[in-house]
Amino acid sequence: MPRPLVATIDISALHHNLRIAKSHAPGAKIWAVVKANAYGHGLERGVRGFAEADGLALIEPENALRLRELGWQKPILLLEGIFDAADLETVVRARLDFAVHCNEQIIWLEQAALKGPLDIHLKMNSGMNRLGFKPEAYRAAYQRLQAIPAVRKITLMTHFANADDPLNPGLPLQQQVQQFEQGVAGLNGERSIANSAADLMHPELKSDWVRPGIMLYGATPGGASAAQFGLKPAMTLSSKIIGVQRIGAGEAIGYGSRFVASAPMLIGAVACGYADGYPRHAPNGTPVLVNGVRTATVGRVSMDMFSVDLTAVPGAGIGSAVTLWGDGLPVDEVAHAAGTIGYELLCALAPRVKVVDL
Ligand code: PLP
Repeated sequence: MPRPLVATIDISALHHNLRIAKSHAPGAKIWAVVKANAYGHGLERGVRGFAEADGLALIEPENALRLRELGWQKPILLLEGIFDAADLETVVRARLDFAVHCNEQIIWLEQAALKGPLDIHLKMNSGMNRLGFKPEAYRAAYQRLQAIPAVRKITLMTHFANADDPLNPGLPLQQQVQQFEQGVAGLNGERSIANSAADLMHPELKSDWVRPGIMLYGATPGGASAAQFGLKPAMTLSSKIIGVQRIGAGEAIGYGSRFVASAPMLIGAVACGYADGYPRHAPNGTPVLVNGVRTATVGRVSMDMFSVDLTAVPGAGIGSAVTLWGDGLPVDEVAHAAGTIGYELLCALAPRVKVVDL
């Protein structure tokens, strides 16, 4: 018997969520973001689930090649562009669009004398201060790219730090928008600015291309409820109870004895641990479903299992079905309880977890 821990992927939820992304950005084209193995769901499922997207966007050049092998014919965008001059060969061979965010990348392009045609997303640092040209340097970068004969199209791109928290005093969304507008003033090109948060919450920010990621998988940025936007969870991580213990008041559970019972309890061991991607820092009280009934973790998460309170779960015992997140238990809720974000939980799914289609 294989271990009962399984991630089940609902491809129809990927389709559905893509349609929701489209409905929020009428007329815009969609890059479905499939970096990090399609946020843990598998590249091949991204290809099937996002067949109606206008393109797929990711970070890893080797996975861009894999998308072509999987039969994806439409555009593919490398969101961080190329990592060295040798990647240009991949870009040409696989017909990849790519971001350009620094002068070194422009030099590689100038020196390569490629035939093209190359479609470039010129990235502006509008305040996030990770990648991109500052607004005052943007025009010069644009003009240098325009002068390269192989360059066919330049798309004007930036990325928002706080579209889910627009009044964040560190970098208000409007400040980023203003910086972007100043930097692109007078330049021709389509705009690519919206991630999931901007797509869902800021329809006023017109973008020719939107680049949703997390929402396509049925979770949200920044703690908003996915269901409120009509999004459906694409991944359900489920397992079973593989051991039960009756304990008395004063008895402790697991490593470090982080939970001590104050009354008699029925405790179940779930086949799932941090080596599977379940967060070790999930505290006592992190929500879990057993037989569809909501209960909670007790004690520390260990490598291969963690414990749950079964005291009030009717009929619970060895073999009872456990949902870690997904259908009936939003990954964002589990993430919030564990002090992280749904993105991290989905992406951290470990290779040893079996992944199947619904
Ligand atoms: N665009 C870029 C450049 C990104 O780096 C990301 C992910 O971080 C996205 C779009 C998608 O963001 P989200 O998953 O929040 O929709």
